[in-house]
Amino acid sequence: MDEDTYISTLKGETARFARERDWEKFHNPKDLSMALAVEASELMDLYLWDREPDREALEDELGDVLHFLLEMSNATGVDLSEAFWKKQGKNEIKYPADLVRGRADKYSSYKHNREGR
Ligand SMILES: [Mg+2]
Repeated sequence: MDEDTYISTLKGETARFARERDWEKFHNPKDLSMALAVEASELMDLYLWDREPDREALEDELGDVLHFLLEMSNATGVDLSEAFWKKQGKNEIKYPADLVRGRADKYSSYKHNREGR
């Protein structure tokens, strides 16, 4: 289904959902960013204490995170695909594969070594 679903379709659906409930007036960037963080926390909660979430709970929380990400995009006018590819380009430069492959340590530690300081 991901293969044949456009982000714009999902953005339209979240906008329709909010409009039909007269919730657009609540959907300012500050509150939407908080709602996104709350949903991300609910996703983390599924894994707390090494629990293994059931598939439906995982799908529900991923859906909630995506929902508020899409709402945030609607409220701010940020084009998600453009933002993704722009940031992806920055990440390619920030995390050169030959330098970071297999490493999980913090960016600053290998940046420090790379610059020879
Ligand atoms: Mg949730």
